[in-house]
Amino acid sequence: MNRMNCSGVSLIQRQPQAAAVLTGSNEYPDIYGVVRFYSTKNGTLVYADVEGLPYAGNRCSQEVFGFHIHEGESCTGNADDPFADAKTHLNNDNCGHPFHTGDMPPLFGNKGKSVSVFLTNRFSIEEVIGKAVIIHGSPDDFTTQPSGNAGEKIACGIIRPVMR
Ligand SMILES: [Zn+2]
Repeated sequence: MNRMNCSGVSLIQRQPQAAAVLTGSNEYPDIYGVVRFYSTKNGTLVYADVEGLPYAGNRCSQEVFGFHIHEGESCTGNADDPFADAKTHLNNDNCGHPFHTGDMPPLFGNKGKSVSVFLTNRFSIEEVIGKAVIIHGSPDDFTTQPSGNAGEKIACGIIRPVMR
């Protein structure tokens, strides 16, 4: 194999094994995103592409959004938390935050858009099928327990297998 074929860039041109379509809560109806999951020999490659994120235009406080896989399997909720049924961070190994199975790098906003590609060996695709991907309204501080003080859940989507 040519070394270039190991790169995430060539992988994301292919069909993923699983994907989640994210939509915003009633308060954030413009958010739309797709998170794709690719199985590789070194772990799971995650490719998130999101638009319609909040954007205030302040250079010195550009938006950063906590981004996690949660243990719940539904993007339903209540008046206080529209995605309450997504529950808390997926945590197969009983670790603290930010060492949860479902903890991922936060999304950096770029005038309402965000694209992020990263490799993680915290979960296989099989372990996250059916789980909820959540975007939070605030940065993840990687310290506060149990979930990094990332604020309200602003978008949600369920991870589904991609049919071939
Ligand atoms: Zn966590």
